Amino acid sequence: MSTTQTPIVYADGIGPDRAALLAEEFGIRTTAQFLEHYPFRYVDKTQFYSVAQLTAAPVEVQVKGQITKIEEVGPPRQKRLVATFTDGTGFIELVWFKGAKWIRRSLKLNTPLVVFGKVNAFNGKKSIPHPEISAPALSSETQSALEPVYSTTDKLTKKGLNSKGIAKVMKALLRKELEHIKDPFTIEFAKEHGVVSKKQALFWIHFPSSREHLEAAKKRIKFEEFFFLQLTQLRNKLRNKSAIKGYPFAEVGQTFLNFYNNHLPFELTGAQKRVVKEIRADVATGAQMNRLVQGDVGSGKTIVALLAMLLAIDNGFQAALMAPTEILATQHYQGLKELCEPAGITIELLTGSTNKADRASIHQRLQSGELHILIGTHALIEPTVKFANLGLAVIDEQHRFGVAQRAKLWKKNEHPPHVLVMTATPIPRTLALSLYGDLDISVIDELPPGRKPITTHHLYEKNRLKLNGFMQREIAKGRQVYIVFPLIEESEKLDLKNLQEGYEQLLRDFPRPQYQIAVVHGRMKPEEKEGEMQRFASGKAHILVATTVIEVGVNVPNASVMVIENAERFGLSQLHQLRGRVGRGSEESFCVLVSSFKLSNDAKTRLETMVRTQDGFEIAEVDMNLRGPGDMMGTRQSGQLQFKLASLTQDGNILNWARGVVEQLLSNDPQLNDQNHVPIKEHWKALYKDQWGWNRIS
Ligand code: ADP
Ligand code: MG
Repeated sequence: MSTTQTPIVYADGIGPDRAALLAEEFGIRTTAQFLEHYPFRYVDKTQFYSVAQLTAAPVEVQVKGQITKIEEVGPPRQKRLVATFTDGTGFIELVWFKGAKWIRRSLKLNTPLVVFGKVNAFNGKKSIPHPEISAPALSSETQSALEPVYSTTDKLTKKGLNSKGIAKVMKALLRKELEHIKDPFTIEFAKEHGVVSKKQALFWIHFPSSREHLEAAKKRIKFEEFFFLQLTQLRNKLRNKSAIKGYPFAEVGQTFLNFYNNHLPFELTGAQKRVVKEIRADVATGAQMNRLVQGDVGSGKTIVALLAMLLAIDNGFQAALMAPTEILATQHYQGLKELCEPAGITIELLTGSTNKADRASIHQRLQSGELHILIGTHALIEPTVKFANLGLAVIDEQHRFGVAQRAKLWKKNEHPPHVLVMTATPIPRTLALSLYGDLDISVIDELPPGRKPITTHHLYEKNRLKLNGFMQREIAKGRQVYIVFPLIEESEKLDLKNLQEGYEQLLRDFPRPQYQIAVVHGRMKPEEKEGEMQRFASGKAHILVATTVIEVGVNVPNASVMVIENAERFGLSQLHQLRGRVGRGSEESFCVLVSSFKLSNDAKTRLETMVRTQDGFEIAEVDMNLRGPGDMMGTRQSGQLQFKLASLTQDGNILNWARGVVEQLLSNDPQLNDQNHVPIKEHWKALYKDQWGWNRIS
């Protein structure tokens, strides 16, 4: 944050041992980094309680009064020192289990004192063990402060850097360094946007003299964190638009129109039409498109992607669609092939398991331009895969790919192709702005018509009979049922056992030949899997028992019941995706979450959320609150989401505000040449000089 790059070893009170430990434990190497080791909470010494008010609680409180009696009590080996303390409203005991002798000598009877600590209650008696005791301050200034509490470790504590030790070094460092800290915001800029100066913020975040000052400091620091991330993203976006030449898809031609008028299997929803229009407007400009399409499971993102690909073809270009897994790529291929072939559009699939001969043929037809659309996994960004003229790249489930992979796609043609990115399930807006803030965002916020809401129930194991009866009734009506077992990566064996046991129980409850059950799991050969899936898809099997491979795998509109076993072991977005497998036909659909009786609080929240709502955007918010943004998106992206102070779950309003300020700033002064903005530019360059965000294009 600060540009002071002094090694921390030179700070007063540090020295080589402590410096090495700070680096080891917290990655702190410079004084600037040390200054960013913000307190994680504050002890409130601004308030006094009366003794009568005190109740046992795990927070520190402060009382003013005097000690009336001191004595040592208990058997010889367990002696403790007990002081009786009062402020006139009641009595409380101060207790020491260690150091009795020394403490006894230092305590004064019947003199005003300030006592600080946590209240315990034992047998109805209130006490404060090992309190901090001080003389009342003469002026309110020195007493009324919020004391910082820093995170530390055992090793640091042993070297004297407990929270108090850190505070001491911090204070000394601030005194010395504060004058040298560069502020990326000029006084005017800070004033204009209602934030305090960096110096002020740094001092107050560590040693606030009041709640108001602390809030002002937090606001400034969070604003700054979001500000520079948004600056990078919006600047990149602006550059893409102005500096990166894209291929203009000026024409809406025969391929698109023929497909749209004669081969589209359904009427597009209003939201799909709107997004197709947004894409069309974007690709026609001559600038490169970088667009994120967000939409709930089943909102129909694939057809939107196909229509965009047809635009490419109409303008003499090829298109590629990249999916994160082979199953997903295959499913896209199968679905799209059915739509494309009757319309005379050539399409192929390329994955890690494509055989040599097919691969050679695909390469050759790609280079000759005969092939219009290539679907694949990341196999299609290999350098050996060369396109005659790639104009559009669609990336499904972008968050599973790294930035480097995205960049490789850019190099597949002379100018970078247009890029359309699709999410599998919605992500919260704050997260979208942080990860994809350099993209334009389209939202498909409408499901295709005729979808009936899915009724979701939560059942405990012991209600299995009820569940079996329900499944039998649905099957009697001609419906089909999915049963999903969890897959834990660490223990494939255990999974298989789960699944096997479940399967055997099912065979007893749903005997042949009346019932047919298909099974799919990760250890099967692809042909076997395919065969079992087929048995279910064709309606021959009534029940499909599976591990989560079906999460992204199949589309069987007649299947109307989704049973999820050990539902407490699934994450929210997984549950939501799984549930999205049903409710695709015209029949009423159900999702049953089966769990054990013992549930963690988080698991309870997940299951309750699933029962309460089907809205993917709402579910995504809950998911982010539970897991935190980094975990939610996978570790790949988490670096970009690590703010020192700001929180994507709690500070959405500050993020929006910062983004607004940056938008306005860039529209008025895109080069940041204004005297008032030069420090921003310099700070930004220093901050991002090693990161892709800054250098990606330049
Ligand atoms: P997702 O957004 O989850 O990728 P898909 O593109 O797989 O959703 O679409 C889900 C299902 O809905 C598919 O069977 C698709 O054919 C169908 N579908 C998509 N759009 C429409 C629509 N406008 N009307 C009817 N069905 C649609
Ligand atoms: Mg999809």
